[in-house]
Amino acid sequence: MKKMIGLSVLTIFLVGCTGNNGIINKDDHKVTSTPAETNEQVEEEVVEETPLVTEENVFTEGTIEQLVNPAYALSETYEPSDLVLVDLLSTQETYLRSEAYEALKELFEAANEEGLQLYAVSGYRSYAMQETLYNNYVYQHGQEEADRFSAKPGTSEHQTGLVMDVSSESAWFGLSESFEATPEGEFVKNNAHKYGFVVRYLKGKEDITGYMYEPWHIRYFGKELAQELYDSGLTYEEYLENNNISLTPVSQAK
Ligand SMILES: [Zn+2]
Repeated sequence: MKKMIGLSVLTIFLVGCTGNNGIINKDDHKVTSTPAETNEQVEEEVVEETPLVTEENVFTEGTIEQLVNPAYALSETYEPSDLVLVDLLSTQETYLRSEAYEALKELFEAANEEGLQLYAVSGYRSYAMQETLYNNYVYQHGQEEADRFSAKPGTSEHQTGLVMDVSSESAWFGLSESFEATPEGEFVKNNAHKYGFVVRYLKGKEDITGYMYEPWHIRYFGKELAQELYDSGLTYEEYLENNNISLTPVSQAK
């Protein structure tokens, strides 16, 4: 609108000049056309980047970015609608959401190209399965110890269908810290993010995540967010806080 006004002024001015003596005064012309040029600059669009994490995607059930930890639980009834059988080397029948499965397949193939064989050990677990597992651990180890490595029902990331526990023959197909030092564990640590996964429970961050170091537990976040998390060296909780999403500390929830 402003630009149109500018042009109208210019037109009237030109007509006026011609009417007078047929000569356009260069200096006057310049002054008259300046407002139109300035308006064009102001009207340029400012494109803002959409952040990878927002309160909406972090706290909505079923999103790839959803935060699940002892302070943020999934509902008892949540079950992903797109679970598929993990048709890869595995120690048992296990399922993942389809997007995470496709990414895991890529990760396993990349390992294979390096002469390494990863095994899927445990993917999706329902609320009820987690409840049974947790109660068994409490029975065997006592609650305090069980809480260090097993999630209370609803607070397990496995219920998202976006997590796989992985192992290798060199780690006796088990889930223990010794997996880190195996060639397969090294590969996972250094490459999982390229396929959209991160090692979720980092060393020395037990107070923040609520879990001890688990080099075998990889969570799917998609390539872009996984790369950011990997580069930052932060846990997901720390990364969210850095992106102005304030959280209830895990320690208060236990
Ligand atoms: Zn796990």
